Amino acid sequence: MFDEIAQSIPTQIIEYEGVSLHIKRLDLIHAQISGNKFFKLKYNLMQARKLGCENIISFGGAYSNHIAATAFAAHFFGFNSLGIIRGEELKHKQLNPTLLTAQKYGMLFEFIPREQYRLKNTSSFMDELRLKHPHAYILPEGGTNHLAILGCSEILNYEDAHFDYICCAVGTGGTISGLIEASQDQQRIIGFSALKGDFLKTDVQSWTTKQNWQLIDTYVQGGYAKTSQALHEFMQWFESKYHIPLEPIYTGKMLYGIFDMIRQGKFHVQDKILVIHSGGLQGRQH
Ligand SMILES: *Cc1c(COP(=O)(O)O)cnc(C)c1O
Repeated sequence: MFDEIAQSIPTQIIEYEGVSLHIKRLDLIHAQISGNKFFKLKYNLMQARKLGCENIISFGGAYSNHIAATAFAAHFFGFNSLGIIRGEELKHKQLNPTLLTAQKYGMLFEFIPREQYRLKNTSSFMDELRLKHPHAYILPEGGTNHLAILGCSEILNYEDAHFDYICCAVGTGGTISGLIEASQDQQRIIGFSALKGDFLKTDVQSWTTKQNWQLIDTYVQGGYAKTSQALHEFMQWFESKYHIPLEPIYTGKMLYGIFDMIRQGKFHVQDKILVIHSGGLQGRQH
């Protein structure tokens, strides 16, 4: 299923102030396992199957695209799934569209207090989880690990080698790390951060030794999942002009940034620019 889907990803060309952008529409891969999450899960699920695991466990906030994609993919491949969700208070609330989707695909939830969630990467937390679920395959928050990065390196193919710039949105840094690994040395990878923090740069550096990349956090809009009037107006304008749907956390901020950089003359008419539309539209469907 993975290979068939990945073979024919459409690219759409749009123009702004004479600069052409080639948009790789990963959002069109599949309604539930869309975008970069598809590539991040591919080798992980293959590994889980190889290890004979029955259950996929992962972590996320209530709006996590990764949680929705993991639930769908686990179901599709015949695994059970468990989502460990940040925020104990959510236990008593109506599930939002993201969690409803995950539940529809059979995911069970464990809502844990935020203080406890913060400890999810510690060895004591992990040991306890493994003891409770000895046959589970555990994916980190956002799904970023070596196998996810290997999967994301397949977002680029040999036809993409002629682009000067490759732009993508950055959350945990897994996707950009895969793109960097797959890139040519003369290409420049520009990541638009969805959140502030120097740790992101350090994280990406831990996944790749290449230097042909940079992170831009100018367009974060105050933080993860924070928005602004200007971003909303841009997204409305963009969607009605180009008929490409965006969401405000990742792809909206990225394109807002790219268009601003075009206006500032940071991209030129002759530049060949590939933009990765990483999907993330599942939460908007309902
Ligand atoms: C998860 C997500 C990202 C971030 O990917 P990372 O590999 O965590 O950097 C970017 N765009 C969309 C739409 C996402 O859902």
